Amino acid sequence: MVRPTHAHIDLHSLTFNYRRIREYLGARAEASPTAPRIIAVIKANAYGHGAVRVARALESVETGPAGGLMLACADIEEGIQLREAGVCAPILVFGALSVSNLDGVVVHGLTPTVSSPEAARALQATAARHGQQLHVHLKVDTGMNRFGFRYDNIRRTVPVALEDRNLIIDAVYTQFATAENIDHPLFDLQRQRFEIALETLRGMGLDEFTSHAANSSALLRDRRTWYDAVRPGLLLYGVMPTPIDTALSVRPVLSLRSRIVAVKGMRVGETAGYATQFSAGRASRVAVIPAGYADGLDLRLAGTASVLVRGQRASIVAVSMDSTTVDVSDVDVSPGDDVVVIGSQGDDRIDACEVARWIGTVPHEILCRTGTRIERIYNSEFL
Ligand SMILES: *Cc1c(COP(=O)(O)O)cnc(C)c1O
Repeated sequence: MVRPTHAHIDLHSLTFNYRRIREYLGARAEASPTAPRIIAVIKANAYGHGAVRVARALESVETGPAGGLMLACADIEEGIQLREAGVCAPILVFGALSVSNLDGVVVHGLTPTVSSPEAARALQATAARHGQQLHVHLKVDTGMNRFGFRYDNIRRTVPVALEDRNLIIDAVYTQFATAENIDHPLFDLQRQRFEIALETLRGMGLDEFTSHAANSSALLRDRRTWYDAVRPGLLLYGVMPTPIDTALSVRPVLSLRSRIVAVKGMRVGETAGYATQFSAGRASRVAVIPAGYADGLDLRLAGTASVLVRGQRASIVAVSMDSTTVDVSDVDVSPGDDVVVIGSQGDDRIDACEVARWIGTVPHEILCRTGTRIERIYNSEFL
């Protein structure tokens, strides 16, 4: 049984996007013999799309380990969940490891990030205990001021990670704080700091490592950020991070749909929702959708946002935990009609970026919020 509110996850669009990104990166072939590798970011349950399904679909495109797909998740637990579902691709773990049980990294063959001397020591101890060498990526902090070895302190802090034979540094990476904002000077500054850090590391005797830096926005904005690999999240899910002029076209993977369960009239001056969120300025008709903030629909959508019904926009007037009320005074609707919260209907489309703008957040957050109660429906051809 499927609830009226559900998410369609179109894995064909996902694999389409992956191939498009791969082609787009291949366009640099004249400048470099090999195009950058794609590290597909599937943290946070693949931005709400379902990490295992997404990983399997990507694996079906990119078979063979050499130069192929790498996945990235936020923590060891997410990585283990993928391994237990039979996902074989290399998995980079982004998060800080200082308070985690590290055995899972070795047992499940994950690639951890070393982002501090303490993390290096803890991983060394774990690798030694298992009598195994561990391949890791080293993170450099060039301006996020979150995880990573400070770019200007590398000579002092990184040696602890280099001295041990159990840790093999496969790659060095950084993360941009302002890739979404074309005009911010920190973006280019971070890239320069990263290059200096890479030089410093080479000077310290580290060699044969690859490097990566770009998320979706950065890879679209500046080819100098491509290095040996790129780390798209949003783009894979078919969402363009910022209005950007690019030859790359992607298709949205997730659509969020529901149905009208009730329609009723309101007299002038009557209110709808808790705390009288909406007051009818004229005789109105409202319709109720069985999805609310427990499903990821933000309370602040009331008064600013719309849904699509009968191919037209209907304003959201109230959001509660399990239901949302929309003004359908100007649309001829009946119970049972299809409603689109994210996706297209008729000639109109509401995408995650538009929803994000309505409440002043980023599209990543909108996708991730898709509630656990919402059933995900996948194309049947994908396992
Ligand atoms: C989430 C994340 C990404 C992907 O970012 P998008 O903007 O979704 O492309 C890349 N790198 C790191 C380290 C991340 O945490």
